[in-house]
Amino acid sequence: MSATSVQRRYLNPRLESLKKEDVKALQFVLLKRQLEHVAASNPFYQELFRSHGVKLDRIRSLRDFQQAVPLIDKKTLMQDQQARPPYGTRLGIDERDIGQVFVTSGTSGLGQENHAMTHQDLEMSSSCFSYQCYWAGLLPGDRVFQTFPVALQSGGVRGRRVMEKFGLNVFQVSIYDTHTKLDYMRRYSPHAFVAAPAYLTRLAAVCVEMGMEPRRDLPDLKTILITGGAYSVDWAQQMKTFWGVSLTEWYGSTQSGTSQCFTCEDGVLHADGRRGLMHNMDHRVLLEVVNPQTLEPVAEGEEGDAIVTSLFRKASPMIRFRTYDKVRYLPAGHCACGRPFDGIESGTVSRYDDMLKLRGVNTWPETIDAAVFSFPEVEEYAGRVFVSERGTEEVIVRVELKPSLRPATQDACGNLLQAISALLRERTGLRMDVQEAAHESLPRFTFKVRRWTDERQTDRKVVTYTE
Ligand SMILES: [Zn+2]
Repeated sequence: MSATSVQRRYLNPRLESLKKEDVKALQFVLLKRQLEHVAASNPFYQELFRSHGVKLDRIRSLRDFQQAVPLIDKKTLMQDQQARPPYGTRLGIDERDIGQVFVTSGTSGLGQENHAMTHQDLEMSSSCFSYQCYWAGLLPGDRVFQTFPVALQSGGVRGRRVMEKFGLNVFQVSIYDTHTKLDYMRRYSPHAFVAAPAYLTRLAAVCVEMGMEPRRDLPDLKTILITGGAYSVDWAQQMKTFWGVSLTEWYGSTQSGTSQCFTCEDGVLHADGRRGLMHNMDHRVLLEVVNPQTLEPVAEGEEGDAIVTSLFRKASPMIRFRTYDKVRYLPAGHCACGRPFDGIESGTVSRYDDMLKLRGVNTWPETIDAAVFSFPEVEEYAGRVFVSERGTEEVIVRVELKPSLRPATQDACGNLLQAISALLRERTGLRMDVQEAAHESLPRFTFKVRRWTDERQTDRKVVTYTE
């Protein structure tokens, strides 16, 4: 199938060439339609709108919508589910019309949300992802390796479904260990594969161990599709050099019901080395980025909390869901492609609840990641924060070194660990004890990254801590 016929079949090229204000006008029409739908049929939103005095006929602009309709979050959804298990009153459809159910990972400790989708919802979700495939240079028939786990979480199952919908030949390799995945890659020469950034680092390290050279052994590779973690520009450049292709990134959530933001042809880095833009699919999801304190929309270039409203979900609809994902809002013009969709910066999506408070200082794990991984010798690391017997807060960073790059002498190794510690101090203002861990002794991640263990809560039960 030629690129033009793929474009005609799976995308809406007219949408991509609209003016930005026309896209926003279309989005508002779809938003009003969705609001009317939930107000007419969904008990959860009927009650929410009633208790907050929301009058739909008074919503004539996005600003009206933002001022009238309250934010909901995971706690709101969990309360509703507990009152009416398993889907809550927000299900909004006959149970027999459910096409698939997804649950959230539950890593927040607040429980797992249940999200139903109708068959039509799943179709709409798939049609969104086609943009990413096409923009990334993929065509129907291309071989794609999928490393995300296929279970009840939406990432793997929906990812596979949408790729099949676009006509990709999907190799579901999540169940195999990393060596086996790479063996299969060498055998079938994929055009693309999907990996979380942390897992891409792991794949690269194992490639080296196996004597595999992607530029030679994976000659058909066009791109690597990543999602699920922040990373530094240096890391993206290293990966591009190692794999010989650009990285493309997407952002989505179980709540929005789809992968909603994608980098375009430029990938995650522009030619001049700036971070790329993930364009939001404005006709499927309304994305707001708000200041987490004031809840007011942030200005272009600022960071804030991503608020998502699905414009298509009939089952378990989601209106103004607060994700607690920290994103940087960028206007469409940030990207040279000329598409009319605003979006968010690639490589900087993280979780507000991942922020570590170390000795009273707010510290983002990605700041530490960027410092530690700027040393090419480092393969993986794990951080631990705890309260010592003296009642002081201690931070230990254990690093695993790549066997091929580990300094030959103990002294040189010690100097390297000290250099990492010095850079961490420079970037975070905090003293951290950096130690070496044996190779392959630290956890590896295929999807959700958890490099930090916080033992302060349990420690504080036994010692008195004063700061
Ligand atoms: Zn673009």
